[in-house]
Amino acid sequence: MKNPYIAKKHWEYELPPLSRTDEMAKRYDDIINLSVGDPDYPADKTCLDLMYRDALAGHTRYTEYYGDPELREETIKMYKEDYGVDVAMNELLITAGGTHALYVVMQTILDPGDEVIAIAPYYTYYKDQVEMAEGKLVVYNAPADKRFDVEVEELEKLVNSRTKAIIVNSPCNPSGKVYSRENLQAIMDLAEKYDFQVIADDIYGALNYTDNKMPLCTYEERPNRVITVYSYSKDLSATGVRLGHIIARSDIIDAALNVCGGVTFTICSFSQRFGLYALRRRKEIQEGLRAEYQKRMLYAYERISKLNHVKCFYPEGTFYIFADIRETGISSMDMWDKILDEAKVLVLPGDGFGKAGEGYIRICCTVSVEVLKEAFDRLEKMDIFK
Ligand code: PLP
Repeated sequence: MKNPYIAKKHWEYELPPLSRTDEMAKRYDDIINLSVGDPDYPADKTCLDLMYRDALAGHTRYTEYYGDPELREETIKMYKEDYGVDVAMNELLITAGGTHALYVVMQTILDPGDEVIAIAPYYTYYKDQVEMAEGKLVVYNAPADKRFDVEVEELEKLVNSRTKAIIVNSPCNPSGKVYSRENLQAIMDLAEKYDFQVIADDIYGALNYTDNKMPLCTYEERPNRVITVYSYSKDLSATGVRLGHIIARSDIIDAALNVCGGVTFTICSFSQRFGLYALRRRKEIQEGLRAEYQKRMLYAYERISKLNHVKCFYPEGTFYIFADIRETGISSMDMWDKILDEAKVLVLPGDGFGKAGEGYIRICCTVSVEVLKEAFDRLEKMDIFK
């Protein structure tokens, strides 16, 4: 799109697979769409009713710049109750979801040329977010044959004087991986040794099916080295409410507030009321959604185990199955098309999540078990998986 009306930096831009799914989904009429991580579990009706009531009562105006004070207090209470972590009012900033939070963090901490390490396979938009802040994304390819565990000595080789941060997403999109305590502690030690920040993209915390549930913010006494990014999208099944927050040391939060001033000013006031009630009801909401997604993940895992030339790890977290198709000898991109054309099932190619994802496809369990059954019945009929 070479065009004098568009900034040159966008001329060479190639859409990531995730942004092409709308167009792919139109290829056939009876597609089963397992491509986008948009949970089908309904947003909580009680919270929606209370949000509506509050909107009618006047919560339709700008809120305080750091966010609705009641929501901030409730958030602080949640960190204390769930994790024993103390967060101060000036260490917290409400955002319009996780994507916005990550964008704001990058704009806040990066000077041109600064580096951020991502552990691949990683969430597609990290690269854009770092580059929009004129930083450089440095990719550590977690070894697929070691279940995507981080080999810290290898990771350390990527650190240099320009390293400003590392992004850690556990449970991870797309791999569903929950990094071990040893891995997380080793990353924290590395950050301490070389003095950089750890951005904890903690947006699937409620969808962790292991015993290792403590987020990175619990690895230190007060917010200092960890910048936590939280979202209501997946953990409270409210992607369209566009709500999240950042927790970090107060100097970072103050600078992030300046960035927000020019991007969103304040965050939607009635979304923040939804957030307040969702946090209060989080235990009941999350119990239901965790059970539902875990059930689906186990179902998908069992069906994949019965297919030939494809395998996956036992589900640890999220609602994504990252299936290893290397044995077929077909690239992720070709398999993306093949599955769509032969089975009318839309997944995502693994290499859209960094080089470590080549030879994988991502399957979202964001449909019921009945629909998943139909999807796997179709996949089972493909010659390549017989
Ligand atoms: N981080 C990860 C790892 C994600 O998977 C997503 C969405 O899928 C986001 C951040 C952004 O989510 P949202 O902007 O809906 O909060």
